[in-house]
Amino acid sequence: MSQEQIVTRFPPSPTGYLHIGSTRTALFNWLFTRQKHGKFILRIEDTDRARSTDDATQAILKSMEWLGLDWDEGPYFQSERYDIYNAMVDLLLLTGQAYHCHCSPDELDQRRKDAQARGLKPKYDGKCRDLGLGPALGSVVRLKAPASGITQFHDIIKGPIRFNNEELDDLILRRSDGSPTYHLAVVADDINLGINYVIRGDDHVNNTPRQIQIYNAIEATVPRYAHVPMILGPDRARLSKRHGAMSVLAYRDMGYLPNALLNSLARLGWSYGDQERFTKEELIEKFSLENVGKSAGVFNPEKMLDLNAHYIRESSDEFLADKLIPFLEQSGFADLDKTMVKKTVTTLKARSKTLVDMAEGAAFYFQDDISYEQKGDEKFLKPDMLDLFEQLERRIEPISIFNQMSLEKMFASFMEENQIKLKKIAQPLRVALTGKTASPGIFELMEVLGKDRVLERIQKAVNHIRKKS
Ligand code: GLU
Repeated sequence: MSQEQIVTRFPPSPTGYLHIGSTRTALFNWLFTRQKHGKFILRIEDTDRARSTDDATQAILKSMEWLGLDWDEGPYFQSERYDIYNAMVDLLLLTGQAYHCHCSPDELDQRRKDAQARGLKPKYDGKCRDLGLGPALGSVVRLKAPASGITQFHDIIKGPIRFNNEELDDLILRRSDGSPTYHLAVVADDINLGINYVIRGDDHVNNTPRQIQIYNAIEATVPRYAHVPMILGPDRARLSKRHGAMSVLAYRDMGYLPNALLNSLARLGWSYGDQERFTKEELIEKFSLENVGKSAGVFNPEKMLDLNAHYIRESSDEFLADKLIPFLEQSGFADLDKTMVKKTVTTLKARSKTLVDMAEGAAFYFQDDISYEQKGDEKFLKPDMLDLFEQLERRIEPISIFNQMSLEKMFASFMEENQIKLKKIAQPLRVALTGKTASPGIFELMEVLGKDRVLERIQKAVNHIRKKS
């Protein structure tokens, strides 16, 4: 007998950017599904028309694409699926599992207060439950939930969870304006799309028995549930903006590689022995819901920055050049030559923690006219350098193969002749060539700049020193 295909979903609400907490949930769904060769569905939960925006939907899609979390079906939009929700509510009404309730919000409020005053739970008191009422202006449809007994499920991560039905309300399925409630829409969609594993944040644990009651009322098979623990910041407070950027696209724009984010998110609550870094393929192979811990994961932005530096060091120059070009373009450089960008990457990848760092570090290569940092200018571009700089120009001019090796050779004899150490010339030359006191190694950067630019910049420094002295 062939095994049933695993079908999962990621159902974000498009009310803002894609939060890294939700992204971790998406990632766990995706890893689990890819490992099992299942089907991963994207569903946009946009029934809250007032708070849902197209921009947020686009941000979600872009975030998922950037991370490489591809989906097999969708995106479905809940706002386009009201027929499915209405059909389910109508079926529940028809089978007597739901009823019209005419209690007005004011009445409900008053009765809730009375109940509380008498020390009772402020839940719906069931007034319309057995009245057999029809629809009316302002009426809602409620589920006829079991009044006694228990609703339980076995959570893959948390183990057995049970709720007393007495604690649960006859929840509203359809509001007076005809719109479905979250619980109804989620269950109707999950049934309609054949979802058999629901992997979501544990802020939904209390929703699960309510949703199971709907499955039971419709006599549908209840999916398996895995509620993943929440995420904390390094100070063990609930993860929030205080701890750093929360949106996936903010990390993209800060120059992170998708892999750094994926690894950091995968390790939030899940582990595989002591292994710190995983390729995407390894994550797919090694991920298991059983290895997701019961306690909260701690997100550490500093660790992620180190991880990013690691992935930058490990990535190919070709890959990094493609990623770097948009950042350079954003700094105003146009018509970039990819071969040149690749060469700059070679000199910068060991010293850049992010692509933004790298773009900043690479700027001097592409600027037509560099400017000098004040400190470096004052300290290193001084009259005593004029003679050395001019000698260098004369020595550089005839070099026909302008590379690190020939430059090192030339410098060796230049330093010997002038009885100076590399220190004496390297920093002033660095300021002359890059405008800065920190840069890649002097010989490698000269090779990448090329002879003409090197000569041009030394001459500019000479003129600059003359002018100021
Ligand atoms: N749209 C819900 C949310 O963003 C997800 C609901 C679910 O996973 O069942 O929290």
